[in-house]
Amino acid sequence: MSPEINEVIRSNRRTIAIVIDSRGKVVIRAPHKVPMSVINAFITTKQSWIDQKIAEAKQRTSKPETKFSDGESFYLFGEKRQLRVTVQAKSALAYLNGEFVLHPTRSEKAPLLFEKLYKKIAKDYLTERANSLAMKYGYKFGKVSITSARTRWGSCSTTGTISFTWRLIMAPVEVIDYVVVHELVHISIKDHSTRFWNKVESLMPDYKKHKLWLKQHGSELSLEGAQ
Ligand SMILES: [Zn+2]
Repeated sequence: MSPEINEVIRSNRRTIAIVIDSRGKVVIRAPHKVPMSVINAFITTKQSWIDQKIAEAKQRTSKPETKFSDGESFYLFGEKRQLRVTVQAKSALAYLNGEFVLHPTRSEKAPLLFEKLYKKIAKDYLTERANSLAMKYGYKFGKVSITSARTRWGSCSTTGTISFTWRLIMAPVEVIDYVVVHELVHISIKDHSTRFWNKVESLMPDYKKHKLWLKQHGSELSLEGAQ
C-alpha cells in the first residue's frame, strides 16, 4: 500500500473513492469485497492527483515564516503587538508603548533578541504576579525562574523554585494568572488529584476556561504564531 494512504474504510458502497482532508490525510473508501490489490492499482492510477491534493492541503495549513520585518506582529499578554523596524530605534530591540522597535542593522539577530526580551519581560512580570498571588492566597516560595519549554507552561520544584516558560507571557493575563495559581497550589499539593483541582477551583472558580484556552491555543504561543 502506498505510504501516503492513512486509512481504508470499507462499506456497502459500489465504487472506490479517494478523500483528502484539509490537513492532507488520505482516506480510501472502498466496497467490502474489493481486494487490496485492486485498491492499490486504482490508487496508482490516481497517484499524481493525490500528490497534488496533499501538496495543496499542506500549502494551506503551513504558516508563513517569521521574518522579523516591519509590520509583522507578535503576541504579548494575549494581544498582537506590531514590530517597527526603524533606524530611530535607540537600542537593538525594545518594547515601547505597545509595540516592538527593532534597529534594522540588528535584523539578523532578531530571533535571539526577541527571545532575550521576552525572557526579561517574563521574569519581571511573572515574579510580580507570583509574589502578589502568593501573598493573597498565603503561599511561600523561593524564587521564580524562566525556562524555554514549549509545552510545559510551569513547574514547581521541591526546593521552592517556581518555573515558567517565557512563552507563557504571550497568553492573555487571566491565563497567565491561572498557570501561576496552578504552580502555587503545587507548593502544598504535588499531584493532580481531585484535592488539587478543588483547591485551584476555590482560588480561581473559572480556571477551566483558562486551562482549555491553553489546550486550544498553546501551540500559537511562539514567535511564529502571530503573523
Ligand atoms: Zn500541575
